[in-house]
Amino acid sequence: MQAEAVFFRETFPVGPIQCNCTIIGDRIRGEAIIVDPGGDPEIILQKLAASGLKLTRIIHTHAHLDHFLASGEIKKKTGAPIYLHKEDKFLWDNLELQCRMFGVPYVPQPDPDHWLHDDEDLSCCGGMAMHTPGHTPGSMCFYFEPHKLLLAGDTLFRRSIGRTDLWGGDFKTIETSIKERLYTLDEEVQVVTGHGPDTTIGEEVRENSIVRLG
Ligand SMILES: [Zn+2]
Ligand SMILES: [Zn+2]
Repeated sequence: MQAEAVFFRETFPVGPIQCNCTIIGDRIRGEAIIVDPGGDPEIILQKLAASGLKLTRIIHTHAHLDHFLASGEIKKKTGAPIYLHKEDKFLWDNLELQCRMFGVPYVPQPDPDHWLHDDEDLSCCGGMAMHTPGHTPGSMCFYFEPHKLLLAGDTLFRRSIGRTDLWGGDFKTIETSIKERLYTLDEEVQVVTGHGPDTTIGEEVRENSIVRLG
């Protein structure tokens, strides 16, 4: 069987701020992880059921409200544990305040089960976690090197980057994360962003006017 026939990926926008949620799985092992279930739990659960894969982890690029509003419901239905970088715990704990600020209905969420760290093996499809702070202190990207795929959360967008004016955001820090951790990846790597269209590392190195090399 070819590698890409084993690899499963589906990305779709969910929730009140249309965060890109991604299911990644291995059809041979029959297992999947989900990244950023930001809302619409029934749609996510339908897609999981259709994939036929067993969910093993619920993983977050960061703890802005729009990236985890369905996490508790997905955990309740699948039993999968919740993963987050510890430096975003203060945002996770302040979900109600975030929802009020953005005018989004508050849905209480259980605490994370596991603190993700830099270079952590995601035990799925060769994925690794990369700590890329700046948009938030605990922002992470998830890199699937065998598939030349990066899930960038709100760190890197097509021709743009994540805002740094919210709690704990810092421009110098996100600039360093992007230059040192993302722009150093192979230029063919496809980038799934937290909102809106995909891009590639090569395109952003050449065309992104906000963070430039050199
Ligand atoms: Zn964000
Ligand atoms: Zn977002």
